[in-house]
Amino acid sequence: MSKQTITSREDMLMPTYNRFPLTLVKGKGSYVWDEQGAKYLDYTSGIATCNLGHTPDVVKNQVEKQLQDLWHCSNLYHIPSQEKLAEILVKNSFGDKVFFCNSGAEANEASIKLARRYAQAVKKTNAHEVVTFSNSFHGRTLATLAATGQEKIQQGFAPLAPGFRYLPYNDDKALDGLVSSETCAVLLELVQGEGGVVPADFDWVKKLAAICKENDILLMIDEIQTGIGRTGTLFAYQQYEIEPDVISIAKGLGSGIPIGAVIANEKAAEAFTPGTHGSTFGGNPLSAAAGLATVSHIVESGILEKSINLSSYLVEKLQQLKGQSDVIEEVRGKGMLQGIAVKGNAIDYVTKAREHRLLILVAGPQVIRILPPLTTNKEEVDAFYSVMQKVFCVK
Ligand SMILES: *Cc1c(COP(=O)(O)O)cnc(C)c1O
Repeated sequence: MSKQTITSREDMLMPTYNRFPLTLVKGKGSYVWDEQGAKYLDYTSGIATCNLGHTPDVVKNQVEKQLQDLWHCSNLYHIPSQEKLAEILVKNSFGDKVFFCNSGAEANEASIKLARRYAQAVKKTNAHEVVTFSNSFHGRTLATLAATGQEKIQQGFAPLAPGFRYLPYNDDKALDGLVSSETCAVLLELVQGEGGVVPADFDWVKKLAAICKENDILLMIDEIQTGIGRTGTLFAYQQYEIEPDVISIAKGLGSGIPIGAVIANEKAAEAFTPGTHGSTFGGNPLSAAAGLATVSHIVESGILEKSINLSSYLVEKLQQLKGQSDVIEEVRGKGMLQGIAVKGNAIDYVTKAREHRLLILVAGPQVIRILPPLTTNKEEVDAFYSVMQKVFCVK
């Protein structure tokens, strides 16, 4: 194609996304506005990222303050807000140490590197294999797409990075083959997000965790979508009576300012020594300020208790909808990460909802994904429900 045939600015973006015909220019709380000033109820939260709603004052104030002082200095110097954020993450989790990066894929990359180095440099074995699960999603970098148990994500990117083995999810029998002499870690989501909003079975996870412990295999939970309060606790693992060795977080951590992190226990964290891993931007003063304000607010404000009550109300409404519609097969999820499995194409319902100024998502071809901000309220859930009644043609 010659340069002259490019007609709009949009054509200058690589077409990696099928964008919706909507341009958003403003957001506050649970609402966003388009260029014409039309107001939408946003139950996508920028894909589980704006967990405190859009442009929350508690975060905005701290980021604005940081903007006056220092944006970036590199990790060659101490960054007080990064250290404070590490402290609050450690105090509110199983973890002892934190590594900061910029995104979910990068957090999983760091987890995978940590697992290999723990096996090779600490335990002095040749183990390198990370077990992951079918329909998982772990990111788009070369290692994390290899970790992802979905062929459509991997197509055209051969050769895939070696060192991953996939097992069926929520499958008790498969756990018999969990560990080989090559295995150094297991990486899993406790609610598969992109893969269709599928929660892991409680007993299955406990059994998996016990096998990891017995064999000194690192248990690594991908909390990039489930973390930062999304499922009703700060992290989803806290509802499973397990203690992971490593978790990766990103999406909700900075309320939309890009930041990711890996939290590990002392044992696993020992594998990273100076020079073994790094990031130019990771946890810089600006993003760490956003992270610190976000996580402090979540642990101090009682917002999680409120969101648990509200998510029960949301689920009640979704069940009501299911009771009235033949095309809804199942409602499932945890906290403010809910899915509606439908007959037919989920995207058609999402499109219809948008026409009624409600933003929701899909998770695979036949599941609608609903990700309200944790700060939503009963009136907004009622507004959501009344649009969904129209979308599913029920009264
Ligand atoms: C979004 C997501 C990722 C990838 O995060 P990016 O920030 O897009 O790289 C990885 N794992 C899970 C579970 C996710 O939901």
